[in-house]
Amino acid sequence: MSGFIGEDQVRAVKARVDLVQLMGEYTPLRKAGSNFTGCCVFHQERSPSMHVYTDQQTYHCFGCGAHGDVISLVREKEHLEFSDAVEFLARRVGLSLVYEKTGRNQLARGQRDDLMQVVEFATGFYERQLWDTPEGAEARAYLDSRHLTQTACRRFRLGWSPGRGRLVEEARRQGFSTQTLLSLDLAVDREGRINDRFYERVMFPISDRFGQPIAFSGRLLPAAERKAKEEGRGVGKYVNNTDTPLYHKGSIVYNLHRARLISRDRGRLMVMEGPTDVMAADEAGFGECVAVLGTALTVEHAKQLGNIVGSTGRLIILLDGDRAGQANSLKAVRTCLQAGVPVRIAMLPDELDPAELLGDPATRENGRQQLEQVLGSARPDLDHLLRSLAPRPYELDNRARITMTDQLLEAVRPMPDPELRSLHLRDIAEWMSMELVRLEKRLAGAEKTALPPDDQDAGPVAEEIPPLTPTLELLLHVLVRCPDLRPDAVDEHGIEPTNFPEPWRAIAGQVLMNPSADLHELTRIEAVQQHPALHAAVYRWTTTDLAARVPAITDPAETMREAVRGVRVAHLQDELKRLTFGINEAERARDFARASQLSLEQRDVHRRLKDMHGHSGFSDERARG
Ligand SMILES: [Zn+2]
Repeated sequence: MSGFIGEDQVRAVKARVDLVQLMGEYTPLRKAGSNFTGCCVFHQERSPSMHVYTDQQTYHCFGCGAHGDVISLVREKEHLEFSDAVEFLARRVGLSLVYEKTGRNQLARGQRDDLMQVVEFATGFYERQLWDTPEGAEARAYLDSRHLTQTACRRFRLGWSPGRGRLVEEARRQGFSTQTLLSLDLAVDREGRINDRFYERVMFPISDRFGQPIAFSGRLLPAAERKAKEEGRGVGKYVNNTDTPLYHKGSIVYNLHRARLISRDRGRLMVMEGPTDVMAADEAGFGECVAVLGTALTVEHAKQLGNIVGSTGRLIILLDGDRAGQANSLKAVRTCLQAGVPVRIAMLPDELDPAELLGDPATRENGRQQLEQVLGSARPDLDHLLRSLAPRPYELDNRARITMTDQLLEAVRPMPDPELRSLHLRDIAEWMSMELVRLEKRLAGAEKTALPPDDQDAGPVAEEIPPLTPTLELLLHVLVRCPDLRPDAVDEHGIEPTNFPEPWRAIAGQVLMNPSADLHELTRIEAVQQHPALHAAVYRWTTTDLAARVPAITDPAETMREAVRGVRVAHLQDELKRLTFGINEAERARDFARASQLSLEQRDVHRRLKDMHGHSGFSDERARG
């Protein structure tokens, strides 16, 4: 909560907190007259030079000169911003702060406390379901299989949500209002019937900066995940709470309250993909890990994390080595550049997540070393960007070189520090073999040059190329960016090159039939070389991450399923048009046998269309960003 705390309230908090007691929690104190002394908490020493003055409620260290009061002490030791430090102390002494200005989404403290109480109740309820009921057995077995010990699960307060209205029922018994459950996104209103929001999921509480749960992320068990996939239902592996009065996913970082202190000691902070990664890392001794849930890294996240590691520490984003991880890494680098926060990117070896790398306690030492190695090889932001966007700059033709350069310029343009930006610009010029002066000019006129490449590439002769429908364009982009989805596209979804109009069909053919087709191979397709529009599209798809689209694609597999559905619906609608035309023709020709035959077919297509509309399995999807 970044609300504004009035001066009188700061005074009230300071008056209630006893500095001797607080300092005593960080270092043993001895009474010396009316004051206290102890070894300094800010520098290493053997003989005590820290003095705590009881009447003024201040401390002073004669060794290092540290000086302050209760607020500066917790700011330093807990690494908190001023208002958070005040809140931290207020909670300690049971004082409710009233924020002066209740701006957007700000709550009065009392109301906030009430809501927190409900989330706390839900956390406890889910915990009991996990540990004390037979229904929790499957979840317990899953956690065990991921080598997450009971101690760790209890420390992170994991739970099990049985669904079927059980939470709602229990909440009512305890006297919590349905409205509160709804506003916290713990319950949903399905046509007047109030039901649990989370249904048969392992629950990971998301805590605020002080470690109090404010929201949840729920994970499907692998068996349920498989079943849903088999039935073609689109359900998210993780479902997170939507934003609520307590929870803003754009600013909350998972496990920050625990990682904050450890990261400062170790001089680094790692951002991982999910809660199980963070837990596995914590188990293996990497307590300095957090995750961003339900959204891509935001500027606000980046600034928070940057503040924690400070100017001497390292912020490292650790991502899976797959295509999705790659795409996320580019987005994260752009965000951090914009936030002015230095960051490094570490990519895990193929097909491994941190939990898998570290998971097995038997080989843990080895896993630890491997993770250290991965972290050690993390590349600085711009370096990562250059190598990812243009790994072989010398292979690019001129047009591609400019497209890539523009993307790099876009990334550095919002950088707040002009000096750093101009250094980055120099590196880009060197890497892309472009003249620095030209890049500077181009950057200055970036608004004009940042047009989509196909607008520039249309050339003087207007081409007669049928545009792709938005659905097909989306589908091709997903397939180009996610080679691992290509086999499924063919085998499971039956996508064929003929689903695409000429001359796009050639690209679709190459992508579908050749799982390793990349930028290089795609640009060698004859049709792509002939048509600048295709050329531009191929570059756009290969170099634009899906997360950068509007709207952003965060689950490519899911998007593919939706797109395929769209293609099928469009195909059936075409069929319908064709049949209607045929029936009219037959009737005009008085060929009633044929007309009735076509009518039967038409009814069949109608029914199939209706089925497709009825089978949307996305009801569980709204919380994923
Ligand atoms: Zn000192």
